[in-house]
Amino acid sequence: MYLCNEREKNKFTLFISSPFRGRRGQTMQVIPLSEGVFTIDKSKIFVPFNIQEDDLQKRAVGSLLVEVLPFVVITKKDVLLLDTGLGFSTNGELQLFANLKANGIQPEHITKVLMSHLHKDHAGGVSIKDRLGNFHISFPNAVYYVQQKELQYAMDTGFPSYMTEEISVLESSSNVVLLDGDGTIDNYIRYHVTGAHSPYHQVYWIEEDGETIFFGGDDAPQLQQMKNKFVAKYDYDGKKCMQLRQQWWQEGQQQHWMFLFYHDVKSPVYKG
Ligand SMILES: [Zn+2]
Repeated sequence: MYLCNEREKNKFTLFISSPFRGRRGQTMQVIPLSEGVFTIDKSKIFVPFNIQEDDLQKRAVGSLLVEVLPFVVITKKDVLLLDTGLGFSTNGELQLFANLKANGIQPEHITKVLMSHLHKDHAGGVSIKDRLGNFHISFPNAVYYVQQKELQYAMDTGFPSYMTEEISVLESSSNVVLLDGDGTIDNYIRYHVTGAHSPYHQVYWIEEDGETIFFGGDDAPQLQQMKNKFVAKYDYDGKKCMQLRQQWWQEGQQQHWMFLFYHDVKSPVYKG
């Protein structure tokens, strides 16, 4: 079992061996790219939250405290990006780009972008806006994997859960592979549509040299939710989410999966 802490998780670079690699001969490397901590309430607006300065008691009643945390997974073949964050920029640069560069990775290095679903806190960085206000794919050398029905649903549903302006490039870009149901990419990445957190949400297993990394997106966003029975009101099918989490938690412990938790402030990576 391995649990990383808040301080550890940002300090590893692409070329320095990290505690996320080398366990039981693992060859894949995981780099969490934290975009920070936010509060979110019924308005579905993400408000940056500073744990040191802001008073936990003062946040809006009923609001959730969440970390937004895309991941890079480096395998023998690929530099994978799992979801693309909020798409916020600081000093004119996408925060996601700055986080990648801080880890020695250029946006051009990303070979595949694996999208769990297209809610705005997961798909904000799929595209960037030029000076004329046009959106372009943000990772020019990557193939983006998106469920076709999720994209359709997102475009039909729109704001506040989905930012149609940012994701509409996915409909026409030659970088995008629109998936239809379950399948496998390059014989080592499995994807499965759960329809649990959102109607066409999908989860991924990345398998290399006998190791398995599991990315459950918002079906399995936090470690604590794996351990406790919990039905969330914000899920499309909260009960299904809960059942899946229990199933994955059990399987993952038995098979020693590495879990990646996209919204976990304390433990983004957990080795079963
Ligand atoms: Zn979501």
